[in-house]
Amino acid sequence: MKINETTPIRVRMAPSPTGSLHIGTARTALFNYLFARRHGGTFVVRIEDTDTERSTKEFEAVTVDGLSWLGMRWDEGPDKGGPYGPYRQSERTEIYKEHLQKLLDGNKAYHCFCTKVELEAQRTYLASQGLPPVYAGTCCALDAATVKKRLEGGEPSVIRFRTLAKKLAFHDLIRGTIEFDTGLFGDMVIAKSLTVPLYNFTVVVDDALMRISHVIRGDDHISNTPKQILLFEAFGFDVPVFAHVPLMLGSDRSKLSKRHGAKSVTEYRAEGYLPEAVANFIALIGWNPGDEREIFSMDELAQAFDLSRVSASGTVFNAQKLDWINAQYIRQKSSAELLKLCLPYLKEAGRDMTDEDLLRLTKIIALEKERLKKLSDIVPLSAFFFALPEYDAAVLVWKKSDKEKARGTLAASLAELEKIPEAGFDAPRIKAALDALAGSSSAGDVYWPLRVALSGREASPGPVEIADILGRKETLARIAAALEKMEP
Ligand code: GLU
Repeated sequence: MKINETTPIRVRMAPSPTGSLHIGTARTALFNYLFARRHGGTFVVRIEDTDTERSTKEFEAVTVDGLSWLGMRWDEGPDKGGPYGPYRQSERTEIYKEHLQKLLDGNKAYHCFCTKVELEAQRTYLASQGLPPVYAGTCCALDAATVKKRLEGGEPSVIRFRTLAKKLAFHDLIRGTIEFDTGLFGDMVIAKSLTVPLYNFTVVVDDALMRISHVIRGDDHISNTPKQILLFEAFGFDVPVFAHVPLMLGSDRSKLSKRHGAKSVTEYRAEGYLPEAVANFIALIGWNPGDEREIFSMDELAQAFDLSRVSASGTVFNAQKLDWINAQYIRQKSSAELLKLCLPYLKEAGRDMTDEDLLRLTKIIALEKERLKKLSDIVPLSAFFFALPEYDAAVLVWKKSDKEKARGTLAASLAELEKIPEAGFDAPRIKAALDALAGSSSAGDVYWPLRVALSGREASPGPVEIADILGRKETLARIAAALEKMEP
């Protein structure tokens, strides 16, 4: 296969299941997915679990679930199979062994028996001479009989690749031409043994055998790329096209971390960010469609995505923007959909809902929708409807008014609202009653103390809507309680 315009587009996401799904990894996966969709290509998921000490099945599940939750669908992968499987590196040991043997047989790799102590001494010596710490080549010319004997004797060894020293340049779709002096690598270790191959080796074998045409990954891998290209060449494999995506940065332009508000995909999900909002948000970090649009469905992203528009410099992660995008998606949902989405958060917060509460909640959601930045916000935002919080009597007094006035209008509101019968206690009637009062006083004098009496909070939706949701009995009880608070 030669990579050119006619090559079928095949990309892969190759996560190592050694931790939760980082938002940066999800973004790289999304770029791969969008690139594949845009070009009618194939998206492969490959699990790179050769680090047996740090890889776990739980992390694999979290990673795969996270990608799927974000709306990505892959054509080949450990769960789906495909023509180039298995798609879990831990199941490909035989394939790697065979390819390691090929390099050994072709004298492109060799067994190295140098001990840690010897290697350390070599490095110290090179450093003292001001030379780069490359392997000195002690074992590169051992004869076959010696190697066989030492291996049979059980002497510990690794497999090194005979690195060709040259100037190596490759064209990166995002960063342009990148050049390396491979002489600085020395003969690199590609496997600890025939059955324990290392990353740079396995990735080349897999990318080649899985017919990957474009390697799109984080730019923390740039220094691995020339090493991998040498391996592709040693096997006579076609070298894929590379695109290294700049890492996301924190607001102070340092490496993105928790302290910048970055979280794992699981955490975003748990807090009530919608998958379509998170996907939309991460797509826009370091990429833009060249116009002002900010809200994209996955289909729209797939149509607009263009790798050449991905910024070559690190892009700052802006947690507020995610909140803004999430709020846009929340507003697009119907109240019924939101009710379903919000319920788990209320349950988790220990709110038991009666049928009557559920009815009330539908109205609360319609009312608070504009204030919801994330689904879990429903817990604090709805709390006062179910239990009046403690508040200070002083809050009942509007800042442009005084206590006497507040008490007077509150008592008048109570008297007016009492006149509305239970069956007719709805927003239009409540509003009409209060507006009539406000006409003879002022809106602030009537609405402020009443709103605080009903919500116990300085900021909340208006008293008409709250009273409508609370119902006659609770509304009157809360006003009476506020009046009591204001007794001299
Ligand atoms: N398993 C590697 C990682 O998680 C993937 C590197 C690659 O895409 O080549 O960083």
